[in-house]
Amino acid sequence: MPTSPFSQRLGNPFLSVHLCFLAVFLFSAFLTTHEAIELKNNYEQRQRAQLSEIQKNLDSQFQESIDELLYYQQMLNYALTHPLDSDHARETIARFQQVRQQPSWQLQLSSPRSMPINGVSDSWLMRDSLLIRDSRHLDQELRAALEFSFIMQFGDASKDFHSRFWYISRAGFFISSRPPQSAQELEQSYAIMTQRPYFRDQDPSNPNHATLRWTKGYQGMFNEGLMLTVSSPIYSNNYWYGVLSMDFTQQRIHDLMETTRHSLLQGKLLLVDRSLQEVTRLHAPNDKPLTDEQEARLKQRILQQPAGVLRLGTQFATWSKLKNVDAYLINIQSLRQGFSQELGRVALFMLGMWLLFVLLLAVAHQVIFRLVKRMDAMSAKLTWRANYDGLTRLLNRSAFFEQFVALAARGSQQHTPIAVIQLDVDHFKKVNDTWGHHAGDQALIRVASVISHTLRKYDVAGRIGGEEFCIVLPETSLEEAKAVAERIRARLEAKIILINASTTFSVTLSAGVSSSEAQGDYDAESLQASADSRLYRAKTQGRNQVCGSD
Ligand code: GH3
Ligand code: MG
Ligand code: MG
Repeated sequence: MPTSPFSQRLGNPFLSVHLCFLAVFLFSAFLTTHEAIELKNNYEQRQRAQLSEIQKNLDSQFQESIDELLYYQQMLNYALTHPLDSDHARETIARFQQVRQQPSWQLQLSSPRSMPINGVSDSWLMRDSLLIRDSRHLDQELRAALEFSFIMQFGDASKDFHSRFWYISRAGFFISSRPPQSAQELEQSYAIMTQRPYFRDQDPSNPNHATLRWTKGYQGMFNEGLMLTVSSPIYSNNYWYGVLSMDFTQQRIHDLMETTRHSLLQGKLLLVDRSLQEVTRLHAPNDKPLTDEQEARLKQRILQQPAGVLRLGTQFATWSKLKNVDAYLINIQSLRQGFSQELGRVALFMLGMWLLFVLLLAVAHQVIFRLVKRMDAMSAKLTWRANYDGLTRLLNRSAFFEQFVALAARGSQQHTPIAVIQLDVDHFKKVNDTWGHHAGDQALIRVASVISHTLRKYDVAGRIGGEEFCIVLPETSLEEAKAVAERIRARLEAKIILINASTTFSVTLSAGVSSSEAQGDYDAESLQASADSRLYRAKTQGRNQVCGSD
């Protein structure tokens, strides 16, 4: 089938349709992706803002306690350099000299609310090289400790965020906001506290010592679960006296996180220590735990940057380091929790709209594709009809002559011979009259079929009249053309045309052949006229024959 003019005009109309729809699809996908990225950025910003709000609240609570710690640190330092010289102090020191050999002892000011100084014996200290009762510093330290124990009574433990606050001395005693209840507990507490990193790490010869040093999360001695402890060394006149410390329990941190949690912050909220071990967490419904690999990735990123956002599979982690504590606040939200938020709902709506758009686009594509297909088929049909004869499926008169002229011109240009055969069915009127018009049509179809099957690919045949046909044979001599005409004639003569089971008939044809070679002329009209006159001769000479001369 030749290319239809419709296709020719538009290039490949199918490709154009596909490309147009592809362009619309890609553009919509681009816009949707762009919007999705915007939403994601917005979501991350919101998560960060909400987390930072909680972080600020936590930080300010910790700050209050730390301010208190630093205040007491200054107070102790001042008391160490400006020892109080009172009767009371002298009395207490004298009592200390009496009890210092006892396995455990307590010294208390007369004021009932002041905290006792809790101590162990001289010999107890022998077991640890960090512990020492240096007589050059002992007096002023005891006086400072007395002042400290006195001032401590003004604190209100019920309002404090920290759960315990204490001073622990290298000289075998401690003062705590939670005094020991028995001699055994006193000794045990001192033993445990002096073994803890919050005490030992503050030795000035330890490279890790710091004004404020946070521990990792650890199990405290009062069954309060995990806790964090901050400690500050008491260092005066080039001598390390001991440390001031504060405990922050998992429970209090948890409670604070719960009260400051923003209602918009979905997912779980974790507080982890500096080694990224969990201290406490706020659960969220539908929590999904991270895999080991995801957890490792998150930890690696947190250690690289103090605040950020990281996608872990279908979960989003947002984290921020606390300012006043060696700890991080981490929020982990699943995709499902994210989608239950306002932004998530917008994202889902957008995705839904886009999918709907893509669906409509696909439907529109199918409709238009089919329309174009139908138009193309129709156009091809019209083009065929304009050029071909519907009965014989050979070229019609005008299309045939168009090609005839073109072939003649090419023959003339290339100096190759061209031959023409003019054919006419014999006594065709009689066929119609005898067997009917339908039988006549069948005969014409048969003639055309014989012609088509006898010709070469590049020969051109057309139906130029009712039962008249014309053939152009490029690069063919007169003799060769006569042979072709003869073959057609003989084949047609041999054909039997069936009308019904018992009736058959056959037809013959006469042919006139002309050629440019013999005529010395490439003019289509005169070549055809010459073939036609030879056909007339064949008719007059008795029909069913080929005539190639005048
Ligand atoms: P001759 O041997 O001299 O050519 O005799 P003829 O009967 O073929 O004479 P003529 O060429 O005058 O007759 C042509 C006839 O062909 C006239 C017409 O009825 C018939 N005819 C033309 N076109 C068609 C057609 O499409 N179908 C049928 N069935 N007959 C047709
Ligand atoms: Mg005729
Ligand atoms: Mg005829």
